[in-house]
Amino acid sequence: MAERYQNYVNGVWNDASSGDVSTSTNPADYSDLIGEFQASSKADVDTAITAAHDVKESWRRTSSLARGGYLLKAASYLEANLEEYAQAVTRESGKAILESRGEVGRAIALLQYYGVEGSNPVGSVVPSVNPAILLYTNRMPLGVVSLITPWNFPIAIPIWKMAPALVYGNTIVLKPASATPHVATLIARMWEAVDLPAGVFNLVTGSGAAVGDELITNSKVAAISFTGSTRIGMNIASQAAQRGKRYQLEMGGKNPVIVLPDADLEQAAEITVSGAMKYSGQKCTATSRAIVVGNIMEEFTNMVVEKTNALKIGPGSDPDSIIVPVIDQASKDNITSMIARGVADGGSVLAGGGVPSGSDYGNGTFVQPTVINNVAVDAYVACEEIFGPVLSILPAGDAEDALNIANSVEYGLSAGIFTRDLNSVLDFADRIESGVVKINGETAGLEPQVPFGGMKASSSGDREQGKAAIEFFTQTKTIYVDRSAT
Ligand code: NAP
Repeated sequence: MAERYQNYVNGVWNDASSGDVSTSTNPADYSDLIGEFQASSKADVDTAITAAHDVKESWRRTSSLARGGYLLKAASYLEANLEEYAQAVTRESGKAILESRGEVGRAIALLQYYGVEGSNPVGSVVPSVNPAILLYTNRMPLGVVSLITPWNFPIAIPIWKMAPALVYGNTIVLKPASATPHVATLIARMWEAVDLPAGVFNLVTGSGAAVGDELITNSKVAAISFTGSTRIGMNIASQAAQRGKRYQLEMGGKNPVIVLPDADLEQAAEITVSGAMKYSGQKCTATSRAIVVGNIMEEFTNMVVEKTNALKIGPGSDPDSIIVPVIDQASKDNITSMIARGVADGGSVLAGGGVPSGSDYGNGTFVQPTVINNVAVDAYVACEEIFGPVLSILPAGDAEDALNIANSVEYGLSAGIFTRDLNSVLDFADRIESGVVKINGETAGLEPQVPFGGMKASSSGDREQGKAAIEFFTQTKTIYVDRSAT
């Protein structure tokens, strides 16, 4: 009998009003049922938003040091329970266990960073033209913020939104992806364990199609922070804009690396394969296009194919697995049909191209790591996000041509270049249309203390993490105090 998990609203675990549930299973093994989770309705979301709204004033009035203190306690709690949380991430998202441990470690670092942020200054005193006037700025919380998150970083992404939201004085409602509700309940358990006041954090599970509108349009919601696909994000943007609500969107990518002829090819091939294939390419910052300049094409391609074929396919619970299952059957079908479309468009499959055979893979959603070449720069497979272990290799005549190809897609999340030439590095850093730029490094892999976000269709332009998070989660007040009249 599957364990049944509940929503966490106003400090209490409860069932959704409908009485309906949905299930979550392990992508490496369909027979491993993780549990049943509340299929919440709009009414349940309204209840959670109201709970957050009811305490927003008391939370705002709590000192930011005290708010930060809850985050620091949560960091310690996560540290003490790291292995349990990492195992849960692997079981539900399919991620390799080493990466899951890294993800929980990242969540801890974020909680520590924003915990300390609670004791940092938030405003400034500015000279006035009138010496009698004390002129200063302060940062005010927005109120209730809806957090809508994807399945691929089921703990790090919710935490990188909620840590700054909470420390800057907002109250929140989290709606996690339907594929990873169990990890979300563990996040709620963490806040319960550190006695965060009731109503400050609320969790409702359920389908985005059913409850998404309520999270965005409810009049008590001040802002929405979303990470997920560009299609859903753009819809949220238009709904929020019509109601004058603030929104923050981090969305898809089609991340390129450029390989110049002077690059250390061994290093470039190693990092390209790692960026494209780890977690089966299911990172928004995963490398999906390698744009290769000049006569190194054959040597580089051979290295990439050899390294790709050597990757171990298996469940995330096996520490040697690099190619883990993709999140679900729909994703597997989408990836294999994208590969087929690439072939139909003239592409040649150099590695992988299908699903692995054998009884080890029959119970999970595995896809082979795949390398394609001979596709046109504007072919669907080379322009659209696949979110699977698929790399397209594209030729370029020179560095200028490579930059134009890199910039030719609608996305602009992360991009890299491999070269030893300083001028090429600086020109690339200046002109690439991408929020994250890596020089001789992997497009995936971010540090939490610096801003993160994309350009073009990858983002609404706001940045998350680091100092930048304050811009979204607060609004500035400018205060004039005329001391001559007091
Ligand atoms: P998704 O399908 O867009 O879902 C993201 C979240 O939106 C889920 O919680 C989903 O709920 C919810 N949702 C679905 N329909 C909705 C609606 N009509 N209104 C409001 N919310 C709705 O994305 P995903 O498949 O979970 O994640 C993969 C995508 O996320 C990729 O495109 C990837 O590039 C992107 N991503 C971006 C970043 C970044 O920082 N730029 C980071 C990670 C992932 P349900 O699960 O219930 O449908």
